[in-house]
Amino acid sequence: MIQHVDTRIFHEGEIIFAEGDMSDYAYIIEDGEVEIFTRIGEDRKVLNILVPGNLFGELALVDRQPRTASALATKRTLLTLVTQQQVDERLSDSDPILRMLLYVVMKHFRQEVNRARAQYSTFTRRDIAPDAEAFNQMRIVEAVAMARLEAELRTALKEGHFRLYYQPLADIATGAVLGLEALIRWENPKRGLLSPYEFIEIAEATNLILPIGKWVVAEGLSAFKSIQDKIKTELSISFNIARRQMEQADFLPSLAENAKAQSIHPRQVHLEILERNLFLRSKMEEWINECAKHGFPVLLDDFGTGYSSLLYLQQFQSASLKIDRSFISGLPQNKQSRNICKAIIDLANAMNIGVIAEGIETREQAQMLIELGCKHGQGYLYSKPVPASDLMDLLLKKAG
Ligand code: C2E
Ligand code: CA
Ligand code: CA
Repeated sequence: MIQHVDTRIFHEGEIIFAEGDMSDYAYIIEDGEVEIFTRIGEDRKVLNILVPGNLFGELALVDRQPRTASALATKRTLLTLVTQQQVDERLSDSDPILRMLLYVVMKHFRQEVNRARAQYSTFTRRDIAPDAEAFNQMRIVEAVAMARLEAELRTALKEGHFRLYYQPLADIATGAVLGLEALIRWENPKRGLLSPYEFIEIAEATNLILPIGKWVVAEGLSAFKSIQDKIKTELSISFNIARRQMEQADFLPSLAENAKAQSIHPRQVHLEILERNLFLRSKMEEWINECAKHGFPVLLDDFGTGYSSLLYLQQFQSASLKIDRSFISGLPQNKQSRNICKAIIDLANAMNIGVIAEGIETREQAQMLIELGCKHGQGYLYSKPVPASDLMDLLLKKAG
């Protein structure tokens, strides 16, 4: 829904905007009447009469083009203003394919308007502003690339081109493996093994993350089961969960069922969610509480890069923190990184919240983290993510 922010009154005969103006607002008519008209040569042509409840002026906000018609208040009129920023926010949240279609349709629409104008008038054609045109072209190119990637992802899913790699969670002091994090890869026939950074965003922007996420959990649990059966110590398996998955009402119940079917205890199944999603506070709280009811531990991933404050954390006490790699990579020299790590670790320890350091690459970093009071971590120092077939070797080596 479009949010109401600001209202303005226009008097009878007042121009709201004129053809050729750059646009700042779209408008909703609350009271009164608005005439939309254009000039073709000397003629004034009324295109539409709008009444309360109607929205107008939104097209120019979408593609940042000058107004193609004028708007006039025919009586005292009360309008609600919708800002460029509000429209932009909604557009950037929308499905990329729909966005692309919208831009393409708009472009055709603009071309039609210009063609009609050129036919009817001896005036010079009003050209589309070159900057805005380049901007739209860029968005179309981007959207087409995304649409193509989305189609390829569908094929990958159908033909089984996704792979699951596992990175150990280690005891920083001893290097003993405590658990595994499942990390997806795409074995692309043309481009080789692709990192999730290249495709997870588009999967999340479309609903594709749902079937992909389902595959990750099913594959991960069954690989974990066969590893756990061969190892005496109890391990955990960690999954990265996208926002859309959290919004699925049956996600947690079906995960619980799936784990139970394989005799995996819920406390072994860890769910990682991005700290930056916490701004949806009440929804997150509800979801984290649901996880607690099922017995699944929750981890706040990339911690330190989002918006959490101490106050927030009190509400999410059942979740552990994963300190983002960017802070660990500054250790031990960078004073600011050290201060941030220290603050997060002290806070977690004081509140009795679990804390994990991500991206540990050197012994010096591990040493510093031990000094700061962090016991658990992941990183290339212990192991890169590996396919399931390499896990037994890794586990036996670490145990030995
Ligand atoms: P993440 O959850 O923060 O995972 C950690 C990333 O850091 C992984 O990248 C891992 O390979 C990398 N990493 C681990 N240790 C080190 C280190 O010592 N040095 C450096 N430089 N990097 C290290 P990866 O596997 O490319 O995954 C990227 C991101 O994609 C993940 O970040 C996660 O947010 C997302 N992702 C991966 N698998 C899934 C999935 O199944 N579902 C969802 N929704 N997201 C996923
Ligand atoms: Ca993670
Ligand atoms: Ca992370």
